[in-house]
Amino acid sequence: MGLIVRKFGGTSVADPEKLSIVAGRISDAYKEGHSVVVVVSAQGNTTDELIRKAKEVNLNPSKRELDMLLSTGEQISISLLAMALEKEGYPVISLTGYQAGITSDSSYGSARIKNIDTERIFRELDRKNIVVVAGFQAWNKFDDITTLGRGGSDTTAVALAAALKADLCEIYTDVDGIYTADPRIVKNACKLKDISYDEMLELASLGANVLHNRSVEMAKKYNVKLVVKSSFKKVPGTNVKEVGSVEKMLVRGVTRDNDVARIAVMGIEDKPGMAFKLFSMLSKEKINVDIILQSIGRDETKDISFTVSKNNLDKALDLIKNNNSVYGAKEIKSSSEYSKVSIVGAGMVNNAGAASMMFEALFESDINIHMITTSEIKISVLVDAHDAERAVNVIHEKFRLGEMNQY
Ligand code: ADP
Ligand code: ASP
Ligand code: MG
Repeated sequence: MGLIVRKFGGTSVADPEKLSIVAGRISDAYKEGHSVVVVVSAQGNTTDELIRKAKEVNLNPSKRELDMLLSTGEQISISLLAMALEKEGYPVISLTGYQAGITSDSSYGSARIKNIDTERIFRELDRKNIVVVAGFQAWNKFDDITTLGRGGSDTTAVALAAALKADLCEIYTDVDGIYTADPRIVKNACKLKDISYDEMLELASLGANVLHNRSVEMAKKYNVKLVVKSSFKKVPGTNVKEVGSVEKMLVRGVTRDNDVARIAVMGIEDKPGMAFKLFSMLSKEKINVDIILQSIGRDETKDISFTVSKNNLDKALDLIKNNNSVYGAKEIKSSSEYSKVSIVGAGMVNNAGAASMMFEALFESDINIHMITTSEIKISVLVDAHDAERAVNVIHEKFRLGEMNQY
């Protein structure tokens, strides 16, 4: 008998039939004698719908008001799921982020959880209640509701598992585990039995939205036992765990991220300090820069190009244009017609061949690489957006990831 945190994603609670299946999944664990804390996301595409509604009223709403609106999606799910469990005769209580004692910093729209006061949840568990908590939302020092960033319910679940010292955190979703690539893009992608926290963190950060990247970061930090499995099929899922216990494969997964835009600042003076001035200005405005490429200086000028997320593109461009007296750029270009395609694997640390294999796969398919970046366990390339899915497939094929079946 232990304490289990189970999280169900948006598609898993999308309609009354699915809510009833999920209620069954929860009551099974309860009947076995476990203390059960459940985290749910907003139903189906509710969050997208709410964003659309906001934009109908105001194209540029304040982040505070947007969080106020978006948090309502999860509030609908917790109450409906609690009602589904009530109907089956189970003792249950739903709690918003605030009621569950989850506090965050004040970055509306991408808040970080700071603390969880577990008193209320433990009180409800002592009363033998199933506790259903709203994912994705928290409470800040201004007594405002915040949200944790898209996909953030995973992070609520892991944070609760860590704070409650749960025996297990299970993320139930619409796929039955973590695959060598998004199974919606690569038909013969293989389900992995295990993956290390570090590899999963890279995959999640590089576009594999099956887990929110901060949830993986937190699971690693607090050593939370994390499993990803299907809400509907009763089959084993994927364990996300510490490195030592996971076989080191050269490449464990391929992923793509469409949320990239590239800015090229061209013809700036080739002298010390230019990159510093450019990137310190962007970082002061909290604009994260990803891949950076600087050309070799010629004719006493150089070009610097870099990528940012799409929602930061306009802000970054305005900043650079308004401060161009500092850089004296002859031309500033931008485009968001790109995707970043990446391979991830702990085995790459000691294998120089992975990069050339990846580039060969792209060359053979006539896919042009615009930028490259590498770290110990990942290699990313920037390609044209319309080539991205093909790139993921040919790289998956090259590394024969379709033959990695561990089940
Ligand atoms: P939920 O609503 O349950 O949080 P998400 O849509 O956030 O579900 O995440 C599940 C989706 O992640 C899957 O439907 C799948 O298309 C996608 N995905 C991306 N990369 C992978 C991967 N490597 N393995 C499994 N699923 C992946
Ligand atoms: N409902 C939120 C979103 O759509 C949080 C989540 O699904 O995890 O991003
Ligand atoms: Mg998700």
